[in-house]
Amino acid sequence: MTFPKISQSYTDPHCYPQGIAFQDGQYLMMKDAKISVLDWGFLHSDATYDTVHVWDGAFFRLNLHLDRFFAGLEKLHMTIPFDRVEVAEILTNCVALSGHQNAYVEMICTRGGSPSFSRDPREATNRFTAFAVPYGSVANSDQMERGLRVAISDVVRIPPNSVDPSIKNYHWLDLVRGLYDAFDKGAETALILDTNGNIAEGPGFNVFTVSNGVLRTPELGVLPGITRRTVFDLCDKLDIEVSVGNVSPELLKGADEVFITSTAGGIMPVSTVDDIQFGNGAPGPITTQIKSLYWDMHKHREWTTAVVYPENG
Ligand code: PLP
Repeated sequence: MTFPKISQSYTDPHCYPQGIAFQDGQYLMMKDAKISVLDWGFLHSDATYDTVHVWDGAFFRLNLHLDRFFAGLEKLHMTIPFDRVEVAEILTNCVALSGHQNAYVEMICTRGGSPSFSRDPREATNRFTAFAVPYGSVANSDQMERGLRVAISDVVRIPPNSVDPSIKNYHWLDLVRGLYDAFDKGAETALILDTNGNIAEGPGFNVFTVSNGVLRTPELGVLPGITRRTVFDLCDKLDIEVSVGNVSPELLKGADEVFITSTAGGIMPVSTVDDIQFGNGAPGPITTQIKSLYWDMHKHREWTTAVVYPENG
């Protein structure tokens, strides 16, 4: 009987976006950042993370992302050997070393593992990883211009009393099922339901309706998005009314405008939901105004943290 050989010089056949990661005290090329297949983060989705973006060489609302990440760690009984200032420095270094002026930046903590493969999460050594890769958006440039085609899926978002949605997490099987549902219906992305049959959120984004100049966004079973929060801040400044509460599929379909929000894309217009078209199908005036003000905020020091890049790139 012959056995396969154990590889001594493994070459990873997969492709990675160009970027820099941080793991175990070292800065690495993206392709060299690895996680053990025995890490609970991989085996059980036992992880929390946050995504912040860098636009024109500056982080946007970094403090809010750090707040959410550190709150998630605490709720999950996880610890990392870095404080907020040190995490901010690590993220900045990842971006600076990557050279990306527009970047998608993640900080992640996985439960980790233990040498005995213990079933007790308290025996695991938590693992912190960070990385910076080129900026990515939920909507591509064509969808940004004409609005996304969205389908409402019957899939129910994991209940908030099972997985606390305020802890940013990788429990995405409901969202991915919703996406495939949407593809089957000829749509480009999905909105899935809360446990009461109202709209919750989509794969990586929150949603807003605009009806008679008033905004509304779902309350139950959603991640309190930082882009969503930024819309609240803008509405406050603009004196536009915004409420948080149930958004039924009927309310959504009867809206004048609909848009979705994410760090990956900002404010993104929706043109149709289940083949119901909003207005003349083009992004509506309030969506357009909020989108433009959102990107204006990226130019102000009040909301941004500049990255200093190595001089010789
Ligand atoms: N909802 C979910 C499930 C998400 O994963 C995300 C972002 O990744 C959002 C909403 C939007 O949150 P934010 O605006 O903070 O990016």
